[in-house]
Amino acid sequence: MAFEAIAVEALSGEAVKAAFGPNDELWLPEFEDIEWNHRDFLSWIHPSGHLGYIVTRSPNDGNLHGVVLRRHERRPRAARLDMCSICHHVHAMGGAAMFTLTEKGSGGRRTLSNVVCGDLGCSLRIRELVTPKSYMQENLYLEAKIWRILQHLHRWLARAKYL
Ligand SMILES: [Zn+2]
Repeated sequence: MAFEAIAVEALSGEAVKAAFGPNDELWLPEFEDIEWNHRDFLSWIHPSGHLGYIVTRSPNDGNLHGVVLRRHERRPRAARLDMCSICHHVHAMGGAAMFTLTEKGSGGRRTLSNVVCGDLGCSLRIRELVTPKSYMQENLYLEAKIWRILQHLHRWLARAKYL
């Protein structure tokens, strides 16, 4: 099925590095610890918490693309639900962050922001590998959730001209 063809496979550190631009502020985690079977796209957070990284395979050209995102904590507020715009997980007690992408070629003038799971762990959430569960439960097959993750992610990256 199509969603399998564009999910990310086990990658070497070199392949991941090559997916980013030469001027990107890159920090790489230990790739040995990653459970690749549970990843629809590769993602991690800079130890500072200010940057997020996403690597995905483009449905357009089949190549790996890496993007660096600015990460902003959501100010804590009582009784607010945050829905991740990629996986639709509903966070009731924090756990989401605002991620900002600079549109490619805009010289930093245009940005696109979305509220996303703060650790970018959408793939793990739809498989219920992290707690807490979504505040709103859905009856959707895992395959449909994977498809949705990649649709939303790729639409966002395409609008910012990365795919
Ligand atoms: Zn998410």
